[in-house]
Amino acid sequence: MYRSHNCGELRAANINEEVTLAGWVQKSRDKGFIVWVDLRDRYGITQLVFDEERTSKDMMIQAQNLGREFVIQVKGTVIERASKNPNIPTGDIELLVSELNLLNEAILPPFTIEDDTDGGEELRMKYRYLDIRRNPVRESLIFRHKVTQEVRNYLSGEGFIEVETPYLIKSTPEGARDFVVPSRMNKGEFYALPQSPQTFKQLLMVGGMDKYFQIVKCFRDEDLRADRQPEFTQIDCEMAFIEQEDILNAFEGLTRHLLKEVNGVEVDKFPRLLYDDAIRLYGNDKPDIRFGMAFGELNDVAQHKDFNVFNKAELVVGIAVPGGNSYTRKEIDKLIDWVKRPQIGALGMVYCRCNDDGSFKSSVDKFYDQDDLAQWAKVTGAKAGDLICVLSGDTDKVRTQLSALRMELAERLGLRKPDEFAPLWILDFPLLEWDEETERYHAMHHPFTSPKPGQIDLLKTDPGAVKANAYDLVLNGNEIGGGSIRIHDKQTQALMFDYLGFTEEEAKAQFGFLMDAFQYGAPPHGGLAFGLDRLVAILGGQETIRDFIAFPKNNSGRDVMIDAPAPIDDEQLEELSLKLNLKS
Ligand code: ASP
Repeated sequence: MYRSHNCGELRAANINEEVTLAGWVQKSRDKGFIVWVDLRDRYGITQLVFDEERTSKDMMIQAQNLGREFVIQVKGTVIERASKNPNIPTGDIELLVSELNLLNEAILPPFTIEDDTDGGEELRMKYRYLDIRRNPVRESLIFRHKVTQEVRNYLSGEGFIEVETPYLIKSTPEGARDFVVPSRMNKGEFYALPQSPQTFKQLLMVGGMDKYFQIVKCFRDEDLRADRQPEFTQIDCEMAFIEQEDILNAFEGLTRHLLKEVNGVEVDKFPRLLYDDAIRLYGNDKPDIRFGMAFGELNDVAQHKDFNVFNKAELVVGIAVPGGNSYTRKEIDKLIDWVKRPQIGALGMVYCRCNDDGSFKSSVDKFYDQDDLAQWAKVTGAKAGDLICVLSGDTDKVRTQLSALRMELAERLGLRKPDEFAPLWILDFPLLEWDEETERYHAMHHPFTSPKPGQIDLLKTDPGAVKANAYDLVLNGNEIGGGSIRIHDKQTQALMFDYLGFTEEEAKAQFGFLMDAFQYGAPPHGGLAFGLDRLVAILGGQETIRDFIAFPKNNSGRDVMIDAPAPIDDEQLEELSLKLNLKS
């Protein structure tokens, strides 16, 4: 038996018991005549004591030579500590060691195994197994386990069945590039790793599984924007014989369950916002609604004067910054510089102070009188003490810019509180989106998403205006899930492929199996997928997903610990009938 107890377990009630512990040396203090060692495992820390009077000379020397992260086993008696440590649960006791076994030595770790470590990100990733010994990382992984357990509990309780789907498949169209795997047995042919199990879960519905879920890895070969991973995990779900409303209720239920069980937070019915309204009110389709600062469109009240910047703009739009009138001129100038940075790209910013006495002072007083500015305040919902920030220009651009400013200001004002949760549904996404590069429409969600009933004909005349039965679940300014009601008949699916620019042959080659299946009695179905990594991070009050992934990749998609990706040897290439053609 390696241990009778773990290192976080012993209390005053165990005093005088003979116990065996095993773990890592966190640190030791050597006073010559007495040595204290902090022994650590997953569960906590127990102090060990060796002293001249009660410990043999040999063991004393052995104890003095224990280095950081040595793995040891100790037997001894639990005794009361002379000076107690109220900061740790085992702080009332220590273990007077009678037997010390060295299980393994350790070389000096490249960073300290402490909550606040001296190791930088890259170093910690290279030695992630050491990083995982640190409390914050271990706790994040345990937290993730708790979330996935609750997901499984809840969905199983609701009659969902977890079904595994294959990883070696054919391309699934989620809008990213595929990772491909060459087939040795089928020379010149490749599998694609799933960007999601989308087609398989639809086939499970055709197979009558009715309620499916899977906690599953997905693979997308994208240029990695900050905080994305080439392989990530989804809670993937699908249901048959349902309408959009059923899906929203089912997964609102799951999210509410998680918030309650994991965070102890009860949330009312989730608000719902149409996509068009989200864009109009917040400038993006994943608004953070923990705070207000909704957009006020000012065209009507700002385009009747001689201020040409506004007059020639497609959209003039502002937000009221709570308490912003306290900003100094210098601070406001800094904000203006902030929106003018190339990453944001605004040409400038007009502002209006809302004074406590009800008067206004704007940066464009030459053009607008008090009555005009009172209108601005009304439209943006500004109160005395606020600052109205106004941007103008092309509608899409200016909305994106103001959205960035809104988030930045909220961050600075401390309005994005990690322990507050504000979920909402965004509904009625456009079916298609125009892609400037390829100059054609792409499915905004994926090509299996059904248009709103009665809008199929609109595809011919005004494709951009067609709305889909597609929805996203947003939490604290992050898209945590998204899905749609699917097309479930062959004709509509073929039509959809046609509109998306697939030839009949291409559609057949890529998705013939799905269209075939639809001929054998496909039930109406739909579903959604949550991004588990992000969901866990947000529930854990963090915004970076890396902390919640045991072995994440860096921004270049590398695993710096195992050093992957890596070249393969000529023999392997030969076996796969592959030849490299590297251009340096
Ligand atoms: N497969 C979709 C995705 O990965 C989710 C869904 O439509 O259910 O975003």
